[in-house]
Amino acid sequence: MRTPLASLAVVLLVAGPVAAQPSADELARFDAAFERIFDEALTERRTYSMLEELCQRAPRRLSGTPAAAAAVEWARQTMIAAGLENVRLEPCMVPRWRRGEVELLRLTAPEEAAGEVLPILALGGSSATARGGVTAEVLVVGSVDELRERAAEARGKIVLFNVPMDPTDPNPFSAYGGAVGVRYAGPAAAHELGAVGAVVRSMTPNLDDIPHTGGTTADAAPACAVSTNGAERIADLSARGLTVRAHLELTCEWLDDVQSYNVVGELRGSSIPDEVIVVGGHLDAWDVGQGAHDCGGGCCQSIEALALLKRLDLRPRRTLRAVLFMNEENGLRGARAYRADHDAEMPGHVMALESDRGVFAPRGFTSDANPEAMTTLRAIAGLLDEYGASLVRPGGGGADISPMRDAGVVQVGYLPDPQRYFDYHHTEADVFEAVHWRELEMGTAAIASLIYAVAELEERLPANPLEDEPAGDD
Ligand SMILES: [Zn+2]
Repeated sequence: MRTPLASLAVVLLVAGPVAAQPSADELARFDAAFERIFDEALTERRTYSMLEELCQRAPRRLSGTPAAAAAVEWARQTMIAAGLENVRLEPCMVPRWRRGEVELLRLTAPEEAAGEVLPILALGGSSATARGGVTAEVLVVGSVDELRERAAEARGKIVLFNVPMDPTDPNPFSAYGGAVGVRYAGPAAAHELGAVGAVVRSMTPNLDDIPHTGGTTADAAPACAVSTNGAERIADLSARGLTVRAHLELTCEWLDDVQSYNVVGELRGSSIPDEVIVVGGHLDAWDVGQGAHDCGGGCCQSIEALALLKRLDLRPRRTLRAVLFMNEENGLRGARAYRADHDAEMPGHVMALESDRGVFAPRGFTSDANPEAMTTLRAIAGLLDEYGASLVRPGGGGADISPMRDAGVVQVGYLPDPQRYFDYHHTEADVFEAVHWRELEMGTAAIASLIYAVAELEERLPANPLEDEPAGDD
């Protein structure tokens, strides 16, 4: 028979040491700090003015462009002006893809639709069509699997992948996750089966005339996203048994890789500076709109979270490090460079938080934290209830911090209200005016509160188990 003490030893062996949860005293101090943080963010409104400046100075900052270089220099100067410490550029090589002058999808048949021009954007990474464009019959499919079943019909055609985001999913991000695979696999499959072009229904649950770009693979047929109304138009004609033909012309191209940078700044820890909490977003954006929600807002929240803590003299025990990652949209090179360059420091990386779901009103956070760490995060976030930011749901953190997952770094994603993100994501509509100052600043304060508390905890937030598998991309 086991003694109770032996049972406890077995539990400890299986579960590891149990970290102490924050005390009532500790939580009371956090609570007082959080009120000051929210008051400061909502009074000073500095994230908002910072974002306006970024959107004006460096819109369309796709990796490798002069706009991306301007964003890097803006971020460096802004971090210095905001009082961040150890501000530096960390180099990474990035791919460079250029949208062409010509992007055209015009229906040529049936007669009732001939001449209609549908709103499109080339997908990032797409090749150009043959000079002067291609004119071909349109084959409408509802999935990549359906295309493969109808492989014999694909040769010489333009394939429309009419895959809607599930409008009944309460979480548009999971609906996006369920549909976006076709944007990568579809154009490649079309190319493999001899199609001359690929058209992907835009990733939004809305029915409108706004095309949403996004990445696809380099081995693909010339590929664009069409607005959801445009996809419905073609699908309706086809469903009536009419032969649809279209003219597609794209003049985009790949150029050589160039050097770019992650931009990094810190608030050094007062007593345990070698333990680090990363907070960030990605500095690059698609070459449409201004990248306000995706992800200028998250970048500005990351800078201002540290800046306002410094102004309030809330310097925590551990180091807070803002990292604005380069090249999330079409390569993730900055994220991989950060992971590789800081490999030796990974055991000191306590947590990484990414804000890359837009900058709408806060709901809370998602996290892959182990049970002990999850309990701590929930105790801290519970203090944010009156600000609407107390949720901590199981989930990932974000693409840029995902390479740190295998090192056991707890991943946290900022979770704003998700319902309107796909009104703007990867479109001309993602501009500064689409951001509400109060929602943005509430997010800054929620993020600043959580990272401050984790950096100030008496006991370090327990790390996740190390993974054998290299981390994938979210
Ligand atoms: Zn993003």
